[in-house]
Amino acid sequence: MAQPRWQRLARRQLSDQEIGRGRHDDHANATFLRRIIGEHGWPDHRLVGEDGATAALQLALHAETYLIVQQLSARAMYKAVQAGTASIREWAHLHDRCLRNAGVPQLFGTQYVMSTNGPVREPVREPEKLDERRADVGLLPAAEALDRLRRRLSAPPPPCGPRAAGPAHRQPGRGMSAVVSKSKAQFYWRGLRVPFIAPWSAEHILPGEVVVRTGRGGRGIGYADELSHADRRRGILWARQSLARGRGEPNLPGMHPLRQRQAVTHMLCQVCGSSTFNADFERWGERHLYVARATGGRPIGEGERTVMAPVCLPCATESIGACPHLRRGWTAALVAYAQTWGVAGITHHQQTLAPLPLREKELHMVPLGDPAERWTIAMREITTLHRVTPVELCDLAA
Ligand SMILES: [Zn+2]
Repeated sequence: MAQPRWQRLARRQLSDQEIGRGRHDDHANATFLRRIIGEHGWPDHRLVGEDGATAALQLALHAETYLIVQQLSARAMYKAVQAGTASIREWAHLHDRCLRNAGVPQLFGTQYVMSTNGPVREPVREPEKLDERRADVGLLPAAEALDRLRRRLSAPPPPCGPRAAGPAHRQPGRGMSAVVSKSKAQFYWRGLRVPFIAPWSAEHILPGEVVVRTGRGGRGIGYADELSHADRRRGILWARQSLARGRGEPNLPGMHPLRQRQAVTHMLCQVCGSSTFNADFERWGERHLYVARATGGRPIGEGERTVMAPVCLPCATESIGACPHLRRGWTAALVAYAQTWGVAGITHHQQTLAPLPLREKELHMVPLGDPAERWTIAMREITTLHRVTPVELCDLAA
Protein backbone atom coordinates (compact mmCIF):
# COMPACT_ATOMS: atom_id res chain seq x y z
CA MET A 1 0.00 0.00 0.00
CA ALA A 2 1.12 3.57 0.57
CA GLN A 3 4.10 2.50 2.69
CA PRO A 4 6.74 4.70 0.97
CA ARG A 5 4.58 7.77 1.50
CA TRP A 6 4.27 7.02 5.24
CA GLN A 7 8.00 6.51 5.49
CA ARG A 8 8.56 9.83 3.75
CA LEU A 9 6.11 11.56 6.08
CA ALA A 10 7.69 9.98 9.12
CA ARG A 11 11.18 10.90 7.94
CA ARG A 12 10.15 14.50 7.61
CA GLN A 13 9.10 14.32 11.28
CA LEU A 14 6.30 16.71 10.41
CA SER A 15 7.33 19.65 12.53
CA ASP A 16 4.67 22.28 13.15
CA GLN A 17 6.38 24.68 10.79
CA GLU A 18 6.47 22.11 8.04
CA ILE A 19 2.87 21.13 8.37
CA GLY A 20 1.77 24.72 8.43
CA ARG A 21 3.91 25.37 5.36
CA GLY A 22 1.10 25.77 2.97
CA ARG A 23 -2.53 25.08 2.33
CA HIS A 24 -1.50 22.96 -0.60
CA ASP A 25 0.36 20.47 1.62
CA ASP A 26 -2.42 20.53 4.22
CA HIS A 27 -4.98 19.75 1.61
CA ALA A 28 -2.90 17.02 0.02
CA ASN A 29 -2.17 15.42 3.40
CA ALA A 30 -5.81 15.54 4.55
CA THR A 31 -7.01 14.07 1.27
CA PHE A 32 -4.41 11.33 1.53
CA LEU A 33 -5.39 10.54 5.13
CA ARG A 34 -9.09 10.42 4.24
CA ARG A 35 -8.43 8.00 1.40
CA ILE A 36 -6.32 5.70 3.60
CA ILE A 37 -8.95 5.66 6.35
CA GLY A 38 -11.65 4.95 3.79
CA GLU A 39 -9.71 2.03 2.37
CA HIS A 40 -8.00 0.53 5.43
CA GLY A 41 -9.33 2.17 8.57
CA TRP A 42 -6.98 3.99 10.92
CA PRO A 43 -3.35 3.64 9.75
CA ASP A 44 -2.12 1.90 12.90
CA HIS A 45 1.35 0.51 13.51
CA ARG A 46 0.43 -2.85 11.98
CA LEU A 47 -0.49 -1.16 8.72
CA VAL A 48 2.17 1.54 8.40
CA GLY A 49 4.76 0.85 11.10
CA GLU A 50 5.36 2.84 14.27
CA ASP A 51 6.77 5.92 12.53
CA GLY A 52 3.93 5.86 10.03
CA ALA A 53 1.35 5.67 12.82
CA THR A 54 2.98 8.66 14.53
CA ALA A 55 2.91 10.56 11.24
CA ALA A 56 -0.77 9.71 10.75
CA LEU A 57 -1.65 11.13 14.16
CA GLN A 58 0.30 14.31 13.36
CA LEU A 59 -1.57 14.69 10.07
CA ALA A 60 -4.90 14.27 11.85
CA LEU A 61 -3.97 16.74 14.60
CA HIS A 62 -2.93 19.29 12.01
CA ALA A 63 -5.91 18.86 9.68
CA GLU A 64 -7.19 22.11 11.17
CA THR A 65 -8.72 23.38 7.97
CA TYR A 66 -10.30 20.01 7.14
CA LEU A 67 -12.25 19.32 10.28
CA ILE A 68 -14.27 16.54 8.67
CA VAL A 69 -11.05 14.60 8.14
CA GLN A 70 -9.99 15.36 11.72
CA GLN A 71 -13.28 14.02 13.09
CA LEU A 72 -13.19 11.01 10.78
CA SER A 73 -9.64 10.31 12.03
CA ALA A 74 -10.71 10.49 15.68
CA ARG A 75 -13.52 7.97 15.07
CA ALA A 76 -11.28 5.63 13.07
CA MET A 77 -8.49 5.86 15.64
CA TYR A 78 -10.93 5.07 18.44
CA LYS A 79 -11.82 1.83 16.66
CA ALA A 80 -8.11 1.01 16.53
CA VAL A 81 -7.86 1.78 20.26
CA GLN A 82 -10.70 -0.67 20.91
CA ALA A 83 -8.91 -3.24 18.78
CA GLY A 84 -5.75 -2.66 20.79
CA THR A 85 -3.67 -1.30 17.90
CA ALA A 86 -3.55 2.38 18.86
CA SER A 87 -2.81 4.21 22.09
CA ILE A 88 -5.76 5.62 23.99
CA ARG A 89 -3.49 8.32 25.41
CA GLU A 90 -2.65 9.52 21.90
CA TRP A 91 -6.29 9.29 20.86
CA ALA A 92 -7.25 11.53 23.82
CA HIS A 93 -5.20 14.37 22.28
CA LEU A 94 -6.97 14.00 18.95
CA HIS A 95 -10.41 13.77 20.57
CA ASP A 96 -9.74 16.96 22.57
CA ARG A 97 -8.53 18.73 19.45
CA CYS A 98 -11.80 17.84 17.67
CA LEU A 99 -13.86 19.10 20.61
CA ARG A 100 -11.92 22.34 20.76
CA ASN A 101 -12.32 22.89 17.03
CA ALA A 102 -16.04 22.24 17.39
CA GLY A 103 -16.10 25.04 19.99
CA VAL A 104 -16.96 22.83 22.98
CA PRO A 105 -14.91 22.23 26.17
CA GLN A 106 -12.31 19.49 25.94
CA LEU A 107 -12.55 16.25 27.92
CA PHE A 108 -8.95 15.34 28.82
CA GLY A 109 -7.35 18.78 29.14
CA THR A 110 -4.66 18.16 26.51
CA GLN A 111 -5.17 21.41 24.59
CA TYR A 112 -3.45 24.65 25.58
CA VAL A 113 -3.20 28.20 24.30
CA MET A 114 -0.14 30.37 24.70
CA SER A 115 -0.67 33.47 26.79
CA THR A 116 1.82 36.15 27.81
CA ASN A 117 2.27 34.11 31.03
CA GLY A 118 2.99 30.86 29.22
CA PRO A 119 0.68 27.99 28.29
CA VAL A 120 -2.87 27.98 29.65
CA ARG A 121 -5.22 25.00 29.44
CA GLU A 122 -8.26 25.60 27.29
CA PRO A 123 -11.73 25.16 28.87
CA VAL A 124 -12.49 21.68 30.21
CA ARG A 125 -15.81 19.94 30.73
CA GLU A 126 -16.50 18.96 34.40
CA PRO A 127 -13.06 20.09 35.61
CA GLU A 128 -13.55 18.43 39.02
CA LYS A 129 -13.40 15.02 37.31
CA LEU A 130 -10.55 15.92 34.94
CA ASP A 131 -7.79 13.97 36.71
CA GLU A 132 -9.98 10.89 36.94
CA ARG A 133 -10.61 10.98 33.19
CA ARG A 134 -6.94 11.66 32.50
CA ALA A 135 -5.89 8.69 34.63
CA ASP A 136 -8.28 6.49 32.68
CA VAL A 137 -6.37 7.20 29.46
CA GLY A 138 -2.90 7.15 31.02
CA LEU A 139 -2.29 10.90 31.24
CA LEU A 140 -0.51 12.58 34.15
CA PRO A 141 -2.58 14.62 36.61
CA ALA A 142 -3.54 17.93 34.95
CA ALA A 143 -1.53 20.16 37.30
CA GLU A 144 1.61 18.06 36.87
CA ALA A 145 1.27 18.01 33.07
CA LEU A 146 0.90 21.79 32.94
CA ASP A 147 3.85 22.20 35.31
CA ARG A 148 6.02 20.00 33.08
CA LEU A 149 4.93 21.80 29.93
CA ARG A 150 5.81 25.16 31.48
CA ARG A 151 9.20 23.87 32.56
CA ARG A 152 9.83 22.34 29.14
CA LEU A 153 9.00 25.60 27.39
CA SER A 154 11.12 27.69 29.75
CA ALA A 155 14.06 25.27 29.90
CA PRO A 156 17.13 25.85 27.72
CA PRO A 157 17.74 23.11 25.12
CA PRO A 158 19.29 19.98 26.72
CA PRO A 159 23.10 19.94 26.74
CA CYS A 160 24.98 17.34 24.73
CA GLY A 161 26.93 14.51 26.33
CA PRO A 162 25.86 12.00 28.98
CA ARG A 163 22.53 12.60 30.62
CA ALA A 164 22.33 13.43 34.32
CA ALA A 165 21.58 9.95 35.64
CA GLY A 166 18.71 8.79 37.80
CA PRO A 167 14.95 8.64 37.39
CA ALA A 168 12.91 11.75 38.12
CA HIS A 169 11.37 10.43 41.31
CA ARG A 170 14.77 10.02 42.94
CA GLN A 171 15.78 13.58 42.29
CA PRO A 172 14.58 16.31 44.59
CA GLY A 173 11.69 17.18 42.34
CA ARG A 174 9.84 20.45 42.07
CA GLY A 175 6.16 21.25 42.02
CA MET A 176 3.57 18.50 41.80
CA SER A 177 5.97 15.64 41.13
CA ALA A 178 7.66 16.24 44.48
CA VAL A 179 4.30 16.12 46.25
CA VAL A 180 3.36 12.93 44.43
CA SER A 181 6.65 11.21 45.31
CA LYS A 182 6.46 12.04 48.98
CA SER A 183 3.06 10.37 49.42
CA LYS A 184 4.50 6.99 48.31
CA ALA A 185 6.43 5.67 51.28
CA GLN A 186 8.62 2.63 50.80
CA PHE A 187 8.08 -0.14 53.36
CA TYR A 188 10.61 -2.81 54.25
CA TRP A 189 10.14 -6.28 55.73
CA ARG A 190 13.15 -8.24 56.99
CA GLY A 191 15.41 -6.14 54.84
CA LEU A 192 13.32 -6.59 51.67
CA ARG A 193 11.38 -3.85 49.96
CA VAL A 194 7.68 -4.59 50.18
CA PRO A 195 6.01 -3.96 46.83
CA PHE A 196 3.48 -1.13 46.73
CA ILE A 197 0.80 -3.56 45.54
CA ALA A 198 1.40 -6.22 48.25
CA PRO A 199 -1.34 -6.52 50.88
CA TRP A 200 -0.55 -6.41 54.63
CA SER A 201 -2.09 -8.62 57.31
CA ALA A 202 -3.91 -5.63 58.85
CA GLU A 203 -5.64 -4.96 55.53
CA HIS A 204 -8.78 -7.02 55.94
CA ILE A 205 -11.17 -8.16 53.26
CA LEU A 206 -14.36 -6.43 54.31
CA PRO A 207 -17.51 -8.47 54.20
CA GLY A 208 -20.26 -7.00 52.08
CA GLU A 209 -23.69 -8.57 51.76
CA VAL A 210 -24.18 -9.42 48.09
CA VAL A 211 -27.63 -8.55 46.74
CA VAL A 212 -29.28 -8.35 43.31
CA ARG A 213 -29.34 -4.90 41.79
CA THR A 214 -30.85 -3.65 38.57
CA GLY A 215 -28.59 -1.02 37.05
CA ARG A 216 -28.08 0.59 33.69
CA GLY A 217 -26.95 -2.63 32.01
CA GLY A 218 -29.65 -4.82 33.57
CA ARG A 219 -29.59 -7.20 36.55
CA GLY A 220 -26.42 -7.92 38.44
CA ILE A 221 -24.91 -8.06 41.90
CA GLY A 222 -24.20 -5.21 44.28
CA TYR A 223 -23.51 -4.64 47.95
CA ALA A 224 -26.48 -4.09 50.25
CA ASP A 225 -24.78 -0.96 51.62
CA GLU A 226 -23.14 0.07 48.40
CA LEU A 227 -21.38 3.38 47.82
CA SER A 228 -21.20 3.46 44.07
CA HIS A 229 -18.32 5.91 43.85
CA ALA A 230 -16.13 3.78 46.12
CA ASP A 231 -17.37 0.29 45.30
CA ARG A 232 -17.55 0.48 41.54
CA ARG A 233 -15.24 1.32 38.72
CA ARG A 234 -16.61 1.57 35.14
CA GLY A 235 -19.79 0.17 36.66
CA ILE A 236 -18.04 -2.99 37.89
CA LEU A 237 -18.29 -4.00 41.55
CA TRP A 238 -14.91 -4.26 43.30
CA ALA A 239 -13.77 -6.31 46.28
CA ARG A 240 -13.56 -4.35 49.52
CA GLN A 241 -10.30 -4.48 51.39
CA SER A 242 -9.27 -2.04 54.07
CA LEU A 243 -6.19 0.13 53.68
CA ALA A 244 -3.49 -0.17 56.33
CA ARG A 245 -0.28 -0.28 54.37
CA GLY A 246 2.74 -1.10 56.52
CA ARG A 247 0.75 -2.61 59.40
CA GLY A 248 1.19 -6.27 60.34
CA GLU A 249 3.04 -8.58 57.99
CA PRO A 250 3.15 -8.22 54.23
CA ASN A 251 1.94 -10.95 51.92
CA LEU A 252 4.70 -10.52 49.34
CA PRO A 253 3.25 -12.47 46.41
CA GLY A 254 -0.28 -11.10 47.02
CA MET A 255 -2.01 -8.07 45.58
CA HIS A 256 -4.20 -5.49 47.26
CA PRO A 257 -7.10 -4.99 44.83
CA LEU A 258 -7.18 -1.21 45.11
CA ARG A 259 -3.42 -0.66 44.90
CA GLN A 260 -3.10 -3.16 42.04
CA ARG A 261 -5.79 -1.23 40.16
CA GLN A 262 -4.18 2.12 40.96
CA ALA A 263 -0.78 0.89 39.82
CA VAL A 264 -2.13 -0.57 36.58
CA THR A 265 -4.40 2.33 35.64
CA HIS A 266 -2.03 5.13 36.66
CA MET A 267 1.12 3.31 35.48
CA LEU A 268 2.73 3.38 38.94
CA CYS A 269 5.80 1.29 39.70
CA GLN A 270 4.43 -1.85 41.36
CA VAL A 271 7.33 -1.88 43.82
CA CYS A 272 7.71 1.73 45.01
CA GLY A 273 4.40 3.19 43.79
CA SER A 274 6.00 6.13 41.95
CA SER A 275 4.75 7.20 38.55
CA THR A 276 6.62 5.52 35.70
CA PHE A 277 6.03 8.62 33.57
CA ASN A 278 9.53 9.61 34.66
CA ALA A 279 12.81 10.62 33.04
CA ASP A 280 13.45 7.04 31.91
CA PHE A 281 10.03 6.94 30.26
CA GLU A 282 11.07 9.93 28.17
CA ARG A 283 14.56 8.52 27.54
CA TRP A 284 13.05 5.24 26.26
CA GLY A 285 10.83 7.04 23.74
CA GLU A 286 7.73 7.22 25.99
CA ARG A 287 7.76 3.57 27.03
CA HIS A 288 7.33 1.78 30.33
CA LEU A 289 9.38 -1.07 31.72
CA TYR A 290 7.73 -4.38 32.64
CA VAL A 291 9.53 -7.23 34.32
CA ALA A 292 8.07 -10.72 34.65
CA ARG A 293 9.00 -14.21 35.55
CA ALA A 294 10.00 -16.01 32.37
CA THR A 295 7.88 -19.14 32.43
CA GLY A 296 9.87 -21.60 30.35
CA GLY A 297 12.15 -18.81 29.16
CA ARG A 298 9.27 -17.15 27.29
CA PRO A 299 9.64 -13.38 26.83
CA ILE A 300 6.76 -10.91 27.39
CA GLY A 301 4.72 -11.11 24.20
CA GLU A 302 2.89 -8.59 22.02
CA GLY A 303 -0.68 -8.16 23.27
CA GLU A 304 0.08 -10.21 26.40
CA ARG A 305 -2.66 -10.19 29.03
CA THR A 306 -1.41 -9.36 32.49
CA VAL A 307 -2.25 -8.16 36.01
CA MET A 308 1.25 -6.71 36.30
CA ALA A 309 1.95 -3.03 36.63
CA PRO A 310 5.10 -1.43 35.25
CA VAL A 311 8.24 -1.06 37.34
CA CYS A 312 10.81 1.72 37.52
CA LEU A 313 14.41 0.93 36.62
CA PRO A 314 15.95 1.22 40.12
CA CYS A 315 13.23 -1.04 41.56
CA ALA A 316 13.63 -3.53 38.71
CA THR A 317 17.38 -3.70 39.20
CA GLU A 318 16.97 -4.16 42.94
CA SER A 319 14.17 -6.74 42.65
CA ILE A 320 16.15 -8.95 40.30
CA GLY A 321 18.80 -9.24 43.00
CA ALA A 322 16.32 -9.79 45.82
CA CYS A 323 13.65 -12.05 44.36
CA PRO A 324 14.72 -15.68 43.89
CA HIS A 325 12.00 -16.24 41.27
CA LEU A 326 13.23 -13.38 39.16
CA ARG A 327 16.88 -14.29 39.59
CA ARG A 328 16.24 -17.79 38.26
CA GLY A 329 14.60 -16.60 35.09
CA TRP A 330 13.24 -13.18 34.41
CA THR A 331 12.31 -11.26 31.35
CA ALA A 332 11.98 -7.53 30.77
CA ALA A 333 10.33 -5.50 28.04
CA LEU A 334 9.64 -1.90 27.13
CA VAL A 335 5.95 -1.33 26.46
CA ALA A 336 4.43 1.67 24.67
CA TYR A 337 1.02 1.29 26.24
CA ALA A 338 -1.21 -0.98 28.26
CA GLN A 339 -4.83 -1.31 27.28
CA THR A 340 -7.65 -2.29 29.61
CA TRP A 341 -8.75 -5.84 28.82
CA GLY A 342 -11.13 -6.48 31.72
CA VAL A 343 -10.96 -7.72 35.28
CA ALA A 344 -10.14 -10.85 37.23
CA GLY A 345 -12.40 -11.62 40.14
CA ILE A 346 -15.08 -13.89 41.45
CA THR A 347 -18.21 -14.34 39.35
CA HIS A 348 -21.42 -15.14 41.22
CA HIS A 349 -24.32 -17.43 40.30
CA GLN A 350 -27.22 -15.46 38.84
CA GLN A 351 -29.90 -17.23 40.92
CA THR A 352 -28.22 -18.35 44.14
CA LEU A 353 -25.69 -15.45 44.20
CA ALA A 354 -23.13 -18.00 45.44
CA PRO A 355 -19.55 -17.50 44.23
CA LEU A 356 -18.80 -19.80 41.29
CA PRO A 357 -15.98 -22.28 41.96
CA LEU A 358 -12.45 -21.31 40.99
CA ARG A 359 -10.36 -23.71 38.98
CA GLU A 360 -6.93 -24.19 40.60
CA LYS A 361 -7.49 -20.99 42.63
CA GLU A 362 -7.36 -18.97 39.39
CA LEU A 363 -9.70 -15.96 39.49
CA HIS A 364 -12.39 -15.74 36.81
CA MET A 365 -11.26 -13.63 33.86
CA VAL A 366 -13.98 -11.31 32.61
CA PRO A 367 -13.40 -9.24 29.45
CA LEU A 368 -14.67 -5.65 29.18
CA GLY A 369 -18.35 -5.56 28.24
CA ASP A 370 -18.93 -9.25 28.95
CA PRO A 371 -22.37 -9.93 30.55
CA ALA A 372 -20.53 -11.69 33.42
CA GLU A 373 -19.15 -8.27 34.44
CA ARG A 374 -22.38 -7.56 36.27
CA TRP A 375 -22.10 -10.78 38.31
CA THR A 376 -18.46 -10.41 39.24
CA ILE A 377 -16.64 -8.92 42.20
CA ALA A 378 -13.43 -7.66 40.63
CA MET A 379 -10.09 -8.08 42.40
CA ARG A 380 -7.58 -7.26 39.66
CA GLU A 381 -7.48 -4.99 36.67
CA ILE A 382 -6.22 -6.83 33.58
CA THR A 383 -4.50 -5.08 30.69
CA THR A 384 -2.91 -6.16 27.46
CA LEU A 385 0.58 -4.88 26.61
CA HIS A 386 1.28 -3.29 23.24
CA ARG A 387 4.30 -2.38 21.13
CA VAL A 388 6.35 -4.69 23.29
CA THR A 389 10.13 -4.74 22.85
CA PRO A 390 12.07 -7.29 24.92
CA VAL A 391 15.11 -5.74 26.59
CA GLU A 392 17.97 -6.71 28.88
CA LEU A 393 17.91 -4.82 32.16
CA CYS A 394 21.68 -4.37 32.14
CA ASP A 395 21.42 -2.60 28.76
CA LEU A 396 18.86 -0.17 30.16
CA ALA A 397 20.95 0.56 33.23
CA ALA A 398 24.04 1.21 31.11
ZN1 LIG B 1 9.93 1.82 41.63
